Formats: sequence, C-alpha cells, structure tokens
Amino acid sequence: MRLIVLSLPATYTSCMDFSPPFPLPDAEKLHALQRLDQFREWRSLDERRYCLVCGKIITGRQIQVAGGTSGDGPSRLSCPTEGCNSIPMDWALLTDENLAVAKMVSCEDDVTSAPKMADSA
Ligand SMILES: [Zn+2]
Repeated sequence: MRLIVLSLPATYTSCMDFSPPFPLPDAEKLHALQRLDQFREWRSLDERRYCLVCGKIITGRQIQVAGGTSGDGPSRLSCPTEGCNSIPMDWALLTDENLAVAKMVSCEDDVTSAPKMADSA
C-alpha cells in the first residue's frame, strides 16, 4: 500500500496552518484590494491606511471583502471597524505626517470625528 502524497502550492499549504478571519487567500484578497480600491495602490496586505471616517489605522489584512470568489468575485471593500461605513476613498495613505496626527487623535478620549487631512499620495 502506497501513501498518496498531495502536492499543494506553498501558499495554499500555509493557509492551512491557521484559521484566517477571511475566506479569501492572501493573494486573492490583495488582488481584490487592488481592483476595488481605485484610489490608491496596494502592494501588500500589510500596508496600512488611515480611515478618515472612524479615525483608525487599518491594514489590508483587516479590511473586509464582501462578495464571494464565484461569479464576478469580491465586489466591495469595507472598513473592519464596526459601524464604520467608509469606502476605499476614505482610506488615506499612512505617511509619517498622517501617522503623527492619528497618534494625536487616538490619545484624545472624546473624538467624535476624524480630522480631514490631505492625502499626500
Ligand atoms: Zn473606518
């Protein structure tokens, strides 16, 4: 009797090691970000953005992709923050300057709205 060895692509195998919060493999998720966020370029899921609506720093990995992988594929991106209905246009690139502002904001207790900042793309 012989063992049947399954040869899976390395990326697929690594996905089996943990339970990702999203059903999409990294590569597909990154592709969805690149396709659905027409305002800024995504090179990695580890890139960070500053959400102008909820004032939080989010990573590509945290962003929620709505829609399935079948048919037309993922159709919508949404902020991982509960109750935040921002769209990709609201996600500013995280420059050092923006980061400083974000840190200042997060230090305040009663921030009701995030400051509008120039997106220095
Ligand atoms: Zn948000």
